Amino acid sequence: MVLKIDNSSLDSEQGKSQNEDASLLELKKLDNKKEIESQPLEVSKGNDNENGFRDFGFNQSILNSLTNKGYKNPTPIQKAAIPELMLGRDLLGQAQTGTGKTAAFALPLIEKLADNNELNAKVLVMTPTRELATQVAESFKSYSSESSNFKTVAIYGGTDYRNQISALKRKVDVVVGTPGRIMDHIRQGTFKIKDINCLVLDEADEMLNMGFLEDIEWIIDQLPENKQMVLFSATMPSEIRNIAKKYLNDPAEISIKSVKKETQLISQKFLYVQRHHKLDALKRILELNNEGVIIFVRTKLLTTSIAEALENSGHTVAVLNGDIPQNQRENTVDRLKKGFINILVATDVAARGLDVERIKLVVNYDFPFDKETYTHRIGRTGRAGRSGEAILFVNQREKHFLRNLENSTRTKIEEINIPSNKTINEKRMEKLIENVNESSLAKDENEALIIDVVDNLKENYSMDDSNIAMAAINLVIGNKSFFVNEDDSWIHKQNNTDRNRSNRNSNNRMRNSNRRTNYQNDSFETYKFNFGKFDGVRVANIISSICNSTNINGRSIGKIQIFNDYSLVDLPRDLHRETKNKLKKIKVRN
Ligand code: AMP
Repeated sequence: MVLKIDNSSLDSEQGKSQNEDASLLELKKLDNKKEIESQPLEVSKGNDNENGFRDFGFNQSILNSLTNKGYKNPTPIQKAAIPELMLGRDLLGQAQTGTGKTAAFALPLIEKLADNNELNAKVLVMTPTRELATQVAESFKSYSSESSNFKTVAIYGGTDYRNQISALKRKVDVVVGTPGRIMDHIRQGTFKIKDINCLVLDEADEMLNMGFLEDIEWIIDQLPENKQMVLFSATMPSEIRNIAKKYLNDPAEISIKSVKKETQLISQKFLYVQRHHKLDALKRILELNNEGVIIFVRTKLLTTSIAEALENSGHTVAVLNGDIPQNQRENTVDRLKKGFINILVATDVAARGLDVERIKLVVNYDFPFDKETYTHRIGRTGRAGRSGEAILFVNQREKHFLRNLENSTRTKIEEINIPSNKTINEKRMEKLIENVNESSLAKDENEALIIDVVDNLKENYSMDDSNIAMAAINLVIGNKSFFVNEDDSWIHKQNNTDRNRSNRNSNNRMRNSNRRTNYQNDSFETYKFNFGKFDGVRVANIISSICNSTNINGRSIGKIQIFNDYSLVDLPRDLHRETKNKLKKIKVRN
């Protein structure tokens, strides 16, 4: 049954017509379950008299902090979740980052704790990664910035215990953390949990993927029995449903489809490039757009080598990978936000949940492992209602995965070419003209000085206006060559031959010979399996067993060697614990 909502408590969006609201909020109401379509977020900076959050009954301090943040109207997930959470109900929400889900649970919890003066924490939020923990804690802090005496503490691994312990000793309302560190503090008695009356599991599917299920269950068992439970997850596999069934009490269910937001706001493109030309292609892409870029690569080693190469080409770059200490990571994200760094080269795990509004471009330098990884990656742009661009590098073998990706995300990814010298030179020219024009419009504190210099040149060197302009532009350009003139014939060949060859070879793509040559060894680890030639095993059997039993894609499997009674298989480094467990149990040909 499809119901249109005419409930005034949900219909709180100001400044829009009833009809518009009704169509946006067309909900499928199945028992408890609501399915909602996401839409771009609206941010209006500055003071706004109308505040669509007023109808929730929030106190003035929260409304003031929302006005400061420029939030005008609640997002669909906020409209649906906030009233339920204010009533104290449990909630099961399917939503990805970018939908406004953090405020959906943070705001009602802050409201409920408005007069809390007790020492021990009342709310615990669990997140899969330190980055997300920091971000969620930052969101709590900013939404409560106008509320006096509200304290949020983040506890996560990779940083010193001492600061966390002393923060937990003082008054605290909300603790946000990652499972491992939360367990440590509970065990050591440094995190007092006896007053926790609400637990939020954020990105629960990701926590499961990272093998945290046992830890989460252990933590839940330690917490007081009577508590509100909120579970947010981007996907709803059966494991998450089981957790919900086990721990949530008659939850309100909300599901938000955020794919629409991505297809609306992020323009998704791909280009064909052979592996040995990837770095050149990347540099050419950055010629057209180099302010606010994230480049996703598969290994830590690649993050540093690419960052170095880009730095040598004059870009401001930083890396984000699992080896970078936590405080340095925070510092990097902060510098990216402030514009001191323009380009970030990152691995998937390190950049999960990253929320930096100025990211305009995401480059998938290495093909993502799966659809979810792709969606998370490109979701780093198009934040808070802005538009963004995502470019996927595809080699000949990956064409077939590109089609799979298009099918599973139900998105057409548009093909583009690697920028040629001509395109780059036109762009450089355009930028130069733009810079000179902007500089002439700007009122400068040096204006008097500039006039003096011009007068001096005219008087003492007999230069006219046009001579002076030309000399000044020459000075801006400097003495290196302005236009790119290196051989770019490889680009043309690349686009054509690669495509043709990839058509011809489409049936042979999974052949082991390709597999041997197309990957860098440092991306792999060798696994030994106790089946071999004597068991009648062939390469194709091994690939299909691995792909069917785990979430590893065929294209991510490296070299396969079959011996008499065992086989060696190269698989990506840093597999999740859960995937490794599944690998232990795989069967080939039964
Ligand atoms: P989240 O899904 O919680 O990661 O939020 C995504 C982004 O949307 C963050 O940058 C938030 O600051 C922003 N945001 C959340 N709610 C709103 C709102 N009602 N209006 C405008 N921006 C919002």
